[in-house]
Amino acid sequence: MVNSWMYNIVPAGLMIDETLRRAGVTVIPMGVGNTELQVQVMNQLKVTGFVGTTSFFINVINKAEEMGLDIRKDFNLRLAVIGGEMGGGPIRKMVEEKYGIATGDMYATADVGLLAFECNAKNGMHIAEGVILEMISYETGKQVESGEVGEIVVTPIDETYPLIRFGTGDLAGLIAEPCTCGRTSFRITRLLGRVGDAVRTRGMFIHPRQLEPAMAKFPQVAQYQAVVTRPGHRDELTLKVELKTEEGIDKEKLSHDLNQVVSEALRIKVDRVEFVVKGVIPEWHKLIVDERVY
Ligand SMILES: [Zn+2]
Repeated sequence: MVNSWMYNIVPAGLMIDETLRRAGVTVIPMGVGNTELQVQVMNQLKVTGFVGTTSFFINVINKAEEMGLDIRKDFNLRLAVIGGEMGGGPIRKMVEEKYGIATGDMYATADVGLLAFECNAKNGMHIAEGVILEMISYETGKQVESGEVGEIVVTPIDETYPLIRFGTGDLAGLIAEPCTCGRTSFRITRLLGRVGDAVRTRGMFIHPRQLEPAMAKFPQVAQYQAVVTRPGHRDELTLKVELKTEEGIDKEKLSHDLNQVVSEALRIKVDRVEFVVKGVIPEWHKLIVDERVY
């Protein structure tokens, strides 16, 4: 297996190297970069697995095609454990369908190593052994129930590195139902964001990752941004929406539908939906902004 996580400065490369070797895998310590060499190694050594970031894996695939190689015919790649970035889902699907390479996901942090891994059922990541992992609500500070979102808090069972209830700052959902693969450990969903991205509004934390799937249901929307203001003594939530085209759009109905779907996803009522022209929402923007002045 080619390990393309960085071996210097950060611990990722060595951590994964050690984990793989413990599992009996032959590791080729490639690290990041040297894309052409990575392609040659994978091709000539008939490498069966790749582990690294999603974007670097795509670089490697693109380079191989550029060099005239056929991923299905000239490679023996069967598994790509890729991740480390948000929103890799569609890319992984493409890797599986277009190139016939199975993908796997895992969750690790530089501080405590591997914490969760995906099984063949591909429905959440199982919590790894050798660590106590808690999912803590950022609203109540208590354990969340299955199906709820919480911060991942870990206590590694490690004599040489005593660490108790380390808050990772990462948010994920908790899945307590047993998995079809037969493992009985709890699972977590893919990462949903960072604790700091949430904006507390009317006592509830609202998070971009709650907004995103709700807005994905409206293909007519080009850009959007939720803005929290406080004109009086109450937080107001405005959803700014830029349409791809105004042609044939019943704004009143769309406004009503947006309000309903987004209010439900955020669990607090949207006060108004405001249609804005192109340019009002900058190209690079936060999905939720806090403009309250106290
Ligand atoms: Zn499973």
